[in-house]
Amino acid sequence: MPTDDADRQGTRSVEALEALPHRRHDPLLDQWVLVSAGRTQRPWLGRRERPAATAPVEHDPACYLCPGNRRANGAVNPDYESTFVFTNDFSALRPDVPPLAFDEGLLRAEVEPGTCRVICFARRHDLTLADMTEPDVRRVVDVWADQTAELGERYQWVQVFENRGEAMGASNPHPHGQIWAGAALPNAAAREDATQRAYLAAHGRLLLLDAVAQETAGPRVVAANDDWLVVVPFWAAWPFEVLLVARAPTRRLPDLDDRRRDSLAAILIEVLGAYDGLFDLSFPYSMGWHQAPFRNGDESHWQLHAHFFPPLLDAEKRKFMVGYELLAETQRDLTAEEAAERLRAAVAVAPPSLEPALDGAVAALD
Ligand SMILES: [Zn+2]
Ligand SMILES: [Zn+2]
Repeated sequence: MPTDDADRQGTRSVEALEALPHRRHDPLLDQWVLVSAGRTQRPWLGRRERPAATAPVEHDPACYLCPGNRRANGAVNPDYESTFVFTNDFSALRPDVPPLAFDEGLLRAEVEPGTCRVICFARRHDLTLADMTEPDVRRVVDVWADQTAELGERYQWVQVFENRGEAMGASNPHPHGQIWAGAALPNAAAREDATQRAYLAAHGRLLLLDAVAQETAGPRVVAANDDWLVVVPFWAAWPFEVLLVARAPTRRLPDLDDRRRDSLAAILIEVLGAYDGLFDLSFPYSMGWHQAPFRNGDESHWQLHAHFFPPLLDAEKRKFMVGYELLAETQRDLTAEEAAERLRAAVAVAPPSLEPALDGAVAALD
């Protein structure tokens, strides 16, 4: 039972909760996460995530992303030097759709125009963002920003993301990401739009900048520089999830100036290096940017940020979002504070550039 002020507020009361099953609120999605510390000790008989080792190659003739190679639809990639963007040959969205809708009682549907693009981050097949130099990662940041600006002229929502590693469904190890743009506001975007708008209306401040102020120098910080903060969010769902937030009010990637693009490249390398160093393997994750929608309205409630959702609990176990998660709410075993402590330790020891494909986590081509 808390007995003094320090126990009633701040980190000490979180510590009191840590040993007990408790729920944490995610203010961005306005939903709860169940935290059950201590369960990581339980015996595990499930799937092992040790990937097969494969020798990395700089150019793979069978890779549809390498320069000069032919893709499945017959197109030939240019002999690109650094980055390369093309429309996905098997896009989930397409621009040329008629404006059809269906609305009958509870059954509602509507056609969704959009486009899906692929961005190759580098010419070399065997690199990852974490292995790349700062100027090369900066070039990727520029492509993200340029693509966002261009697609934002036609679509309301521009989703920049990367699936890395077979564990996240990336079948090709070539360093690449995706951009999907669409007319509608997707579910997560609509939730964050509503929560950020309501927060600004209620407090006169940006939700995520208040989070930055509250977390800076706190127990959940993983890395920081003048322009960016990386924390394991208090409400993290995935074991080693992190949130990367711009420290100054920023709506979108194209709004970043030169300095903040450079410092973003630096902190991306730092965080991804820590991920790789955490279990000494090429760390799988899904990451992506959330930025203000493009529509004719005031978007000042939006703050630019990126989410990183990695599935691994340790080198051989992954988190599955199954029964309780699908039916009730997300549950995690490792506290955000413990995850942050381990990631900070990995930041401290991470070499500037890990040998690529140490474990071949993403070796298979299909
Ligand atoms: Zn390749
Ligand atoms: Zn978000």
